Amino acid sequence: MYIFIVADFVKEQKEKGLIKHWGFSFHATPDILDEILTAHPDAEFVQLQLNYADWENPKVTARENYEVARKHGKSIIVMEPVKGGALAEPPVEVQKIFRETDSEASFASWAIRYVASLDGIITVLSGMSNLSQMQDNLSYMENFKPLNQEEQTAIRKAQEIMTGIKSIPCTSCHYCTSGCPQQIPIPEIFSARNQQLIWGQLEKGVEEYRNSTKNGGKASECIACGQCESACPQQIDVINKLKECADCFD
Ligand code: SF4
Ligand code: SF4
Repeated sequence: MYIFIVADFVKEQKEKGLIKHWGFSFHATPDILDEILTAHPDAEFVQLQLNYADWENPKVTARENYEVARKHGKSIIVMEPVKGGALAEPPVEVQKIFRETDSEASFASWAIRYVASLDGIITVLSGMSNLSQMQDNLSYMENFKPLNQEEQTAIRKAQEIMTGIKSIPCTSCHYCTSGCPQQIPIPEIFSARNQQLIWGQLEKGVEEYRNSTKNGGKASECIACGQCESACPQQIDVINKLKECADCFD
């Protein structure tokens, strides 16, 4: 089981006044979260991976983790609200639903406003890579308005569509790559395959795959050591997915 080794140190620093608030980031199952929060009721917040696409994802268990944290009365910091950028450009059918509901709103704004509308959220961590993304974020987070009923309905439709698409739920975090003995560019390969699965762009997927493996590290070179699977916060069955990619690309 887990060992929450830093809790005593953190509590000590809080007693000294060096830490004002403490909590932790969490990437596991609701039963473990429940156990941790029962053992450490003084934790003030939990940082969870929450987004509309993973809300009912059985591997990410976003909704269940959220409900456990709220059951314990914890505030929540949201990570991955835009799913590593993927929800800034969702599948075409989802884009259509959002556009029909609000022709102006960015796709990222749907993702961020969805999680920011949940009870108990104190911060939404949104990765931004340029000024226009920051301006977009500020435009709806200043004077924030939660999603209305029509917008919640649009999100539910988007969730249904995304549940039906069999893509690889990789967020390109790269946690898996540094320990790979075959130096396989796992997230880049999955991104190439997702080009095909989500967008139907077969040639573009092949091109991306060729670029990412031009110096070696083809999907078929995986030796199934399992290092990547133990490092993956999305609990992706990397070995099997690489086999599928090898069938398509190698
Ligand atoms: S299982 Fe394959 S992809 Fe994963 S770390 Fe091992 S060799 Fe690399
Ligand atoms: S650790 Fe998982 S989610 Fe992160 S890049 Fe690797 S396969 Fe993708």
